[in-house]
Amino acid sequence: MTEPGYEFSISEAGSYTFTVTARAEENGNYADSKESSPSAPLYFGTVNVDADGSGTASASVAFAAEGTEITLTANADADSHFVDWKVVPNNIKITDNKFTMPAKNVEIKAVFEEHTYTNWEPDEDGAHSRTCSVCGDTQTEPCAGGGATCTAKAVCQICGRSYGNLAPDNHINLTEVEAVAATQQAEGNTAYWYCEDCGRYFADADASEEISQDFFSVRSGCWQPPR
Ligand SMILES: [Zn+2]
Ligand SMILES: [Zn+2]
Ligand SMILES: [Zn+2]
Repeated sequence: MTEPGYEFSISEAGSYTFTVTARAEENGNYADSKESSPSAPLYFGTVNVDADGSGTASASVAFAAEGTEITLTANADADSHFVDWKVVPNNIKITDNKFTMPAKNVEIKAVFEEHTYTNWEPDEDGAHSRTCSVCGDTQTEPCAGGGATCTAKAVCQICGRSYGNLAPDNHINLTEVEAVAATQQAEGNTAYWYCEDCGRYFADADASEEISQDFFSVRSGCWQPPR
């Protein structure tokens, strides 16, 4: 009853005209044949997609007949966002990343550009973040640097906010006090180190051994408390 369909493929860009001949068949005899009027030439062309900037782009097909709907896909790298499509011929309209294949080869560029971040702003405790003012991409990082001391938390070198915990053993303003011999009028002392931030006394320059004021006070045998 029906003839098998005849399929063929085209791989060269160009215009092709198709004429269809239909035959009526009865009991193995071709009773009639009819030719369609030649259709208008149909163009088959290439779709080339390149990336301009940091990202990758592709089309749903690389070769298509005019009138075919083509879907484009753009994927920006982490440091960039997609801006727009640039198309030659430039009268092709791309809507929602789709266009209709014209009777021409098509050259497309996906344009990417690097994020335009705001300054780092303090985030939740111990982190800071920044946002791309164009696409809204947000980066978050832990605060870093600016070592903590015995009385002050670390100040983040990126966002400027203090974070983390005190470092009770980090005395950055340690002053050595030299030994003073006791006299009859005044107490003397052995050498010691004093932290002017936390007000603690230490026996050594590394502040590894904390001592009390009594420890380093030296009194002469006949010292009298002042009146
Ligand atoms: Zn962006
Ligand atoms: Zn920070
Ligand atoms: Zn201290």
